[in-house]
Formats: sequence, C-alpha cells, structure tokens
Amino acid sequence: VKEQGKNNFQFYTPEMNEAVTKKMKLEIGLRKALERDEFKIVYQPQIDVETGDIIGVEALLRWHHPEWGTISPAEFIPIAEETGLILQIGEWVLHGACRQNKAWQDAGYTPLRMAVNISSRQFQQSDLVERVSRILNETELAPQYLELELTESIIQDSKYAVAKMQLLKEMGIHLSIDDFGTGYSSLSYLKTFPIHTLKIDQSFTRNIYADSKDASLVETIIAMAHNLDLKVIAEGVETEEQLQFLQQKQCNEAQGYYFSRPISAEELAVILQERSVS
Ligand code: C2E
Ligand code: CA
Ligand code: CA
Ligand code: CA
Repeated sequence: VKEQGKNNFQFYTPEMNEAVTKKMKLEIGLRKALERDEFKIVYQPQIDVETGDIIGVEALLRWHHPEWGTISPAEFIPIAEETGLILQIGEWVLHGACRQNKAWQDAGYTPLRMAVNISSRQFQQSDLVERVSRILNETELAPQYLELELTESIIQDSKYAVAKMQLLKEMGIHLSIDDFGTGYSSLSYLKTFPIHTLKIDQSFTRNIYADSKDASLVETIIAMAHNLDLKVIAEGVETEEQLQFLQQKQCNEAQGYYFSRPISAEELAVILQERSVS
C-alpha cells in the first residue's frame, strides 16, 4: 500500500502542482476582484473600411491585481467560465459598457455601437434576455447601440439559442459571431440564426499576405456573408496591406492595432472629441 501510494504521488510532478496552485490563486483573486474594484473596461475602435470613420467599439475586460499586476483575459476568462464567476463579471462588463456608451452620447459625440463579448455560460442563463433588457433600461441606452458578440460554441451548447437570439434581435440589439471560422461547426446555422455580422478571426487576417490560402478564406467568407445579407468585420488588422486587401474585397469594417489598441474611456473620448470638431 505504501509503495502504491508513493507511485501515485509521483504522478504529480512539481510543474503540475505549480499549475494547480497558480490556478487556485487566480480563482481566489478573481472572487475578490469585483468588490475590490480591480476590473476595468478598455475600448477598441471599429472602423468603417470605406469611410475610415469609427462606427463602434469593442469592450474588452482588464484585470489589474495590486500585487500580480495585469492579468490577461486569455488567462482569467477561462477560469471565470469554469467557476461560474463569469456570470457576475459579464454582467458588470455589460452594465459598464452600456453606461459608458450612454455617457458618450450625453456628452454630444456621434453615437457609436458598443460590442460586448458574451460567454457561453452567460448566454445559457434562462433569464439572459431579461437581464440585457434591464441593463438597457437602467443605463437608458437605446438597443441599436448595443451589439453582443457570440461565439460559435454558444450555438451548439445552448438550448433555445435561436429563440433567445430572435428576442434580442426584436429588441433592436445587434448580434455578431465572434472568431468566425475557428469553431469547427457546420455552416448551416447561418441560415437560421438571426445575426447581423460575422467577425473574421484574427488568425485569418494575420496571414492574408503570407498565406494565399488564408487570403482565399477571407475573400470567401466576405463573399458568403454578403450573399447571406450579413456584414463582415475583420479583427486583428495590423498593417496597411491587410487593410488594402480588405478594402478590395469589400469587407465592411475592420478592427486592430493598425487603427488603435484597446484604450481607456478617457483616451477614446479625446478621439471622439477631435472627430466631432473636425
Ligand atoms: P476576442 O473577443 O477575440 O478579442 C480580440 C482580442 O484581440 C483582444 O485581446 C484584443 O485586444 C486583441 N487584438 C485586437 N486587435 C489586435 C491586433 O491587431 N493584433 C493582435 N495580435 N491582437 C489584437 P484581449 O483583450 O486580450 O482579449 C482576449 C479574449 O478574452 C477576447 O478575445 C475574448 O474572448 C475574451 N474577453 C475579453 N474581454 C471579455 C469580456 O468582457 N467577456 C468575455 N466573456 N470575454 C472577454
Ligand atoms: Ca470579441
Ligand atoms: Ca475575436
Ligand atoms: Ca478570440
């Protein structure tokens, strides 16, 4: 028995222990982050490819821990999803982003659409539609200035997904499919889902010039979307060449470091201010 115990114990390497401990630490930290006010929302502009105008922003969550510094969403969102904390956090983001968008409108800036990421767990809530509706009421933001970014996994996991999307659409909210092309799902959902926009994943945008197959994929996604009466936005646009390609292929919108990194509400207000006087 002793031998066996020893063998069992050896199965856990120090590296695995470290990973587990780190995850537990992050989870404990995440539980306190909301009440300690450690989250912040940053905003990344979305550009109309034809006019060069900002027509929307995507809200992206940031976590600044007093000791650990800034933790990437790629690291903490999966833990928030696993533990269910994403429900509270996601609601906080949705509320904050809507409130911010209304504040910019009240300041007199040309209205923008605010895109907010919705995780599967969040979308699965049976009262999701009521929650969104309540937040719009509380913040007094008109529904056409809110867009929800959903991933393809939502479509597979959720009961009544189409019905929920239909209700959101009827309220006037925009829906987009994020990371389009990475979800390994059948394309048939495009016929039944009441969505407005496909968001081309940055893994395709990145290689437009390096890989002719990625270029073909991007071109094909744009053409298909337009045939289905959907808009297309490309994410991860970093260079002039990528933008030119997207312009040529009549992609509607673009987002990426070429235009702007995600920035604070104050920094964005400066841009909106300049834009409204020029
Ligand atoms: P995403 O929704 O696909 O967001 C795009 C990510 O690409 C963001 O990373 C953004 O900062 C980054 N990005 C934007 N332009 C460029 C570019 O030109 N080049 C490159 N290399 N990257 C670019 P971020 O902010 O680290 O977020 C990572 C992921 O975390 C997001 O991917 C999203 O899945 C998740 N996330 C972030 N905020 C939230 C949130 O409030 N709720 C939920 N559920 N998920 C969120
Ligand atoms: Ca997104
Ligand atoms: Ca994305
Ligand atoms: Ca992504």
